[in-house]
Amino acid sequence: METWNYAQPVRIVFGAGKVKSLPDEIKKFGGRRGVLVTSPSFVKRGVVQQLVSDSGGLLVDVYSSVSPNPDVRECDACCEVMRRAQADFVVAMGGGSVLDCAKAAAVFALAEAPASAYLNGSLPIPARHLPLIAVPTTAGTGSEITCVSVLSDHERGIKAPLSADSFYPTLALVDSQLTLSVPRHLTACTGFDVLCHATEAYWSRWHQPICDALAVHAARLVLANLQAVVNDGSNAVARDHMAEASVIAGLAFTQPKTTSAHACSYALTRLLDIPHGEACALTIDHFMRINLEHGCERIDTFARLLGYADGYALADAYTALKRATGVRCGLTSYHLDEEQIEALVKASQHPNLKNNPVEITPDMLHALYERLSRED
Ligand code: NAD
Repeated sequence: METWNYAQPVRIVFGAGKVKSLPDEIKKFGGRRGVLVTSPSFVKRGVVQQLVSDSGGLLVDVYSSVSPNPDVRECDACCEVMRRAQADFVVAMGGGSVLDCAKAAAVFALAEAPASAYLNGSLPIPARHLPLIAVPTTAGTGSEITCVSVLSDHERGIKAPLSADSFYPTLALVDSQLTLSVPRHLTACTGFDVLCHATEAYWSRWHQPICDALAVHAARLVLANLQAVVNDGSNAVARDHMAEASVIAGLAFTQPKTTSAHACSYALTRLLDIPHGEACALTIDHFMRINLEHGCERIDTFARLLGYADGYALADAYTALKRATGVRCGLTSYHLDEEQIEALVKASQHPNLKNNPVEITPDMLHALYERLSRED
C-alpha cells in the first residue's frame, strides 16, 4: 500500500504572447515597486527596456548580471539591488540560472546573511520572501514552479540545489514565444533536461501517482517535439509543446525529486563545464539500463506508456535522440585520466543519488565514467 502527499502552490498562466499580461498580473497582487532580474542577453536584445516601459513604472530597477550557474556573489548583488529599490515584488525573466538566482535573492534580501551561509548549510532558509513572478525563457528547468534554487560557490567548488517552500514563485508566466530565440544546441540540451526530469521523477524512490501521470505527459511531448524544434527553432507549435513539457515535468519532479543523472550532472558541470541539460543527458540512458539490470520494473511500464516495447528500447531511443539532436554522448574530447575520473566519482556522491531506485555505488560510477571517457 502506498502513501503520498501532493501540493503545488504556484499559479500558472500559460500561452504564447502571455508575457504582455505581466502588468495586469502585477496589479492583481498589488505590487508597486518591482525589481526585474535577468541576464545580459535580454538587455542586448532590447527585451528588458520593453518590459520596463510596458510596466508603467511598476518595475523600478533591474539586475541583469546573472550568468549561467549563478554564483552566490551574484545572488548577494541581486539582493542589494532589491534592498536599495525597497522592492515589494520581483520579476525573474530568463533561463533556469536567472530564475534560481532571483528566487533565492527574493528570500535572502529580507534577511542579512550572505547567500553562501545558506548554501553551506550554516543557516536555515528563511520563510519570508518577496512575491516573485517567474517568466522562463528556456524550455528546460521547470524552475518557474519548483521550490528549488541551484546556486554555485565557484571559489569553493560547490554547485548544489537548495530547497525551501519560500522559493516557490507566486506566479509562473509561461510564454513559449520567449523561447524562439534559444540557439539550436541550447534547445537540445534544455529539452533533455525536461526529459530527465520526467524520467527521473517516474523512477525516483519517491514516485507517486499524480507525478507519474505528469511525467508520462511531459516525456511524451518531448519525444514528439524535441527533434522538430532542434531542426527548426522557429517552429512555434513545437516550441509551445516543449514549453508545456517543461512546466509539466517541473511539476512531475518537484516532489519525487531528481536522482542519479542529476546527481552526476552537478559534478560534470562543475568539473568539466558541461551545460546543465547536456550533463544530465550524458548519463540518463546509461542509468536507465543500470536500473533495469537491477530490477526496476517501473521503467518497463514507463516505456510502454510512451509506446516502446520495454525499458531497453526506451534507453536506445534516448541514445538515438541524443545523437540526432547533437547532444554529447561521451567524454573522449576531455582525455580524462584516472585522477579526473576519481574526482568525478567523488563529486557525484550527491544526496539526489539516494533517490535513485537502485543503489549506485562508487564502483558503478567509476565504471560508467570510465566507459564514457572512451566514448564519443
Ligand atoms: P541558463 O539559464 O543557464 O541559460 C543558458 C544561456 O542561455 C544563458 O547565456 C542565457 O542568457 C541564455 N538564454 C536563456 N534564454 C534565452 C533565450 N530565450 N534566447 C537566447 N538565449 C537565452 O540555462 P537553463 O538550462 O535554462 O538553466 C540551467 C540552470 O538551471 C542550471 O544552473 C541548473 O542547475 C538549474 N536548474 C534548476 C532547476 C530548478 O528546479 N530550480 C531545475 C533544473 C536545473
